[in-house]
Amino acid sequence: MASRAAWSAFGIGVVAVTSLTFAAAQSPRPAGVIARAAAALGGDARLRAVKTITVAGYGEAAYMNGGGNISASPDAPQKWISIPDYEKTIDLEHGRMRVRQRNHQNFVFAGLAGYLGAPNPAVALLDGAVAYNLAANGRAVRAGDQAVRARRFDMLNNPVVLVRAALDAAARVTNVRTERTLQLGDITVATGETLTLAIDGASGLPSWVRWMAHDENLGDVTFRTSFTGYLPVKGVMLPMGYNTVIDFRGVVQNKLYVDKNAVDEPIDDLAAPTDVRAAAPAPAASPSVEATRVGQGVWLLHGNGGANSILFEFADHLTMFEAPSSQGWTKAVIDRARTTVPGKPLTELAVSHHHFDHTGGIRQAMAEGLTIIAHKGTEGLFREIASRPGTIAPDALGATPKPLKFKAVDDHLRLGDATMQVDLYHVVSNSHMAEGLFAYVPKDRLLVEGDFFDVGWELYWWQKTYADNIAYRKLDVASDVPVHGRVVPIAQAMQDIERMTKAAEAVCTRTQAAGVFMPGCPVKTPAPVGDGFSVR
Ligand SMILES: [Zn+2]
Repeated sequence: MASRAAWSAFGIGVVAVTSLTFAAAQSPRPAGVIARAAAALGGDARLRAVKTITVAGYGEAAYMNGGGNISASPDAPQKWISIPDYEKTIDLEHGRMRVRQRNHQNFVFAGLAGYLGAPNPAVALLDGAVAYNLAANGRAVRAGDQAVRARRFDMLNNPVVLVRAALDAAARVTNVRTERTLQLGDITVATGETLTLAIDGASGLPSWVRWMAHDENLGDVTFRTSFTGYLPVKGVMLPMGYNTVIDFRGVVQNKLYVDKNAVDEPIDDLAAPTDVRAAAPAPAASPSVEATRVGQGVWLLHGNGGANSILFEFADHLTMFEAPSSQGWTKAVIDRARTTVPGKPLTELAVSHHHFDHTGGIRQAMAEGLTIIAHKGTEGLFREIASRPGTIAPDALGATPKPLKFKAVDDHLRLGDATMQVDLYHVVSNSHMAEGLFAYVPKDRLLVEGDFFDVGWELYWWQKTYADNIAYRKLDVASDVPVHGRVVPIAQAMQDIERMTKAAEAVCTRTQAAGVFMPGCPVKTPAPVGDGFSVR
C-alpha cells in the first residue's frame, strides 16, 4: 500500500523517469512491469504495430453468474450456458471490437432458441465511445453507456490489447507490488478504466487481469480472467485458454477454449454507421408501473421495465410478492405499491425463488428495510447478498446499507389477519427450483407463482408440476397470477401447459432422430406427488 501512495501522490506516469527514485528496493517499477510484459509478448515495437486480433473458439458461461441453479446452496451444481461458437475481433488501430457468439442453455428452459441455440446470434460492437448492436436483420442500433463500459473491459480482456493500452502515454500504472511468484500493477487506461494486471515473475507473460463491475443482484463484482497456454502468432504471444472467475462463491463465470488466434489478418470494417454514431446513446428506460386489481386486496403490479410483482393488503400493512428484474424497476414497483394503498406501510417482501431474474431488485427491497420472506434454504444466499458492497454504479444497498431482516419458510407459512389470508407453500415436484415458494389467496382462489408457468413460454419441461402442487396442497384454484406473463384462468394455464409439453416432446423426438441427445429428454414429471392434470 505504501507504494500506491507514493506513486499516486506524485501523479507519476508509466514512463516518468523521476518516479524511479521512489521505488522501494524490492518493488518492481511501474514501467518495469509493463516493459517486462511487453517484452514477453513480442516486444514494445511489435505490440504497437499490431493492427488486428481475432480470437475464435467456443466455451461456457455460468447461467446468471451462479444465481440460476436448482437451489441457493453454494454447493448446487452450476448450470452452464454452452457457447459452441465464439469470435472476438479487435481493430486495435481504430479502437473497435466485435463479439459474435451463439449461446444455448445446457439445461431445460422455456425458449426454443435458448434451448437449441439462436440461429442468428446478436452481435455486439464497440467503436471508440459508441457501443452498438447488430440485429439478425442487419439493423444497427446504438446501445447505452453501460454497454460502452462493459465492452471496453471485454476488449482489454486480452493480454496484447491490455499491455499495448498500458504502453500508451496517457495510461498510468500504480500500486506495483509482488504477490508470491507474480508481479502486479494497477493500470488506468486512457479511457479511464482501471484493471489490475499480474505477470508471471519468471516469464513476464501476463497471468491474469482483474477488474470490477456492477451487478444488480451482487453489487460490486470482481472479475479475474486467467490467460493460459501461450502460443506465438506472427511475432506476438497469445493465450489459448481464458478462464474467468468472479468473487461470488468463486463461480467460474466463463471459459473460452481458443480455436484460432489470428493477428493482422483482414477483418470487416467495424466502424459504427453514421446514423448510429449520430443517434443518442440508448437512455435507461423510465419505468412505468400499473396496478391492476385481481382480487379483494390483491393487485398485479406490471409494466414496461421488468417482471410482475403482486401486492397484498392486510389490515395494517402491505406485503409484496417478488422484487424482480432490477433495482430501478423494483423501486418503481414499490413506489406504485405505496400509492396503490396509501396510508399502510409496505413492510414485507415474499420471494418466489432465488433466481437472479426474480431477485434483481432484492437489494432495493433490503435497502427499503423490508423483511424478506423466503424458503429457509435461501437464507444464506440472501445474507451473502446483503453483505456485499455496492460502490460502482448507483446501488440501493451500497447507498443505504441495512442489516437483513429475514423470515424463513419451511413447508408452509400463513400470513393472515381479519381482512386477508395468504398462504405461502414450499414448491414440490419441480426441477427448476427446489427451494421455491408459491402463494395461495383462498378468498379469491388465486395461485400466485414465479416460474410455474408463463403464457409466453414455448416449451414446458415439468409436465405435472403445477397440477401436482395444487393437488398436494388440496387447493381450489380459479386463476393463475404470475410473475411472468398475465393473469389467466387455471383451466387455460393447464391447457397451455399440455400444449407446451407436447412442443418439448416434439423437440426431443426431432433432436434424437438427428442423433443429438439433449438435456431433459424425454420430458418427465420431476417428483410426482399428486394425481396429474385433473383440476376441478
Ligand atoms: Zn427461475
